[in-house]
Amino acid sequence: MTEVTADHIHKLIDEYDMDDITIATVCSHTSLQIFHGAKKEGFKTLGICIGEPPRFYDAFPLAKPDSFMSVDSYEEILERTDELADKSTILIPHGSFVEYLGAENFANIRLPTFGNRKVLGWESDRQIERKWLEGAGVPMPRKIKSPEEINGPVMVKYQGAKGGKGYFIAKNITEFNESIDSKEVYDLQEFVLGTRYYLHYFYSPLSGDGYRLSQGTLELTGMDRRVESNADEIFRLGSPTELEEAGIQPTFVVTGNVPLVLRESLLPKVFEMGEKVVEKSIELFGGLIGSFCLETVLTDELEFKVFEISARIVAGTNPYINGSPYSELIQPDLSTGRRIAIEIKKARDMGCLEKILT
Ligand code: ATP
Repeated sequence: MTEVTADHIHKLIDEYDMDDITIATVCSHTSLQIFHGAKKEGFKTLGICIGEPPRFYDAFPLAKPDSFMSVDSYEEILERTDELADKSTILIPHGSFVEYLGAENFANIRLPTFGNRKVLGWESDRQIERKWLEGAGVPMPRKIKSPEEINGPVMVKYQGAKGGKGYFIAKNITEFNESIDSKEVYDLQEFVLGTRYYLHYFYSPLSGDGYRLSQGTLELTGMDRRVESNADEIFRLGSPTELEEAGIQPTFVVTGNVPLVLRESLLPKVFEMGEKVVEKSIELFGGLIGSFCLETVLTDELEFKVFEISARIVAGTNPYINGSPYSELIQPDLSTGRRIAIEIKKARDMGCLEKILT
């Protein structure tokens, strides 16, 4: 597939009808709040779906997109970009969108997309992601170089696995050998004991008011905890020893999200981490733009360990369709979907859409 150039995207933006922009995304993940927020800000909306539009949108009229584009496969989107460009379409990526289309296809899609696509290269490989986050000075779980070095609980993560699928915990090399799928490429990471916080941020390169960075501002829009099956409820069945004796292993498949707030005294650390990640991203690849999430474990020493970054809207923002305890202090009724639409509107009105679209 031919690589898309910044020039091509800028030309498309120049040809767009600024009074008739359409916000589009794939019908899944965070699409309800993306459409809901875009509609609130006066944009047209379009949902991309496989086959017939999902019926559940009929149940949510305020989040139902104005139109749908049905495709037989996600790759078909790549062939129908002209049609979308004619509608002055801006694509909003979310985890499922990138996953279903494939990161490489997404990186080369010939349409303006919200955020910096270069970030894909920095987060899809764990070693490169570590370079970014550790380089930023953000504490991460220790990396274990080989199974022989396991001397405490480690998380075994398969390369490319999504939503925690297939991950397992090994406390020693015997447990590792018992469960490893030797056909897969894996990564070993210290299992951090503590409580999980998934911190939602929004970085605006355009804004001048608020928590200022070297360029633009950083917002904390919310936080959540993922609900994971079966780990979160496994102890209903028995004690850790009983479970181990019965050969029952925890698994980490995401099934939903619950809202959360943090001890207020820890907020400075949260901003500090977000700031470091953004500043380093500016240095490495011109900056991540818009929403991102630091996935953390907070230990009983009140230390955060960041085990992953998601550089776009995350499903953990879904509980906050009409604002979170943090976003409410920025603007009433501010979902992340709406925050994205506001940023697009602002850039359009300032005549600098190319600063937030790539
Ligand atoms: P996604 O891409 O959807 O974010 P993923 O497949 O990359 O998910 P992770 O988010 O890295 O998976 O991990 C899945 C889950 O495993 C986490 O939500 C968390 O519960 C647990 N987890 C991951 N790493 C660690 C760690 N180092 N210590 C403790 N728990 C961890």
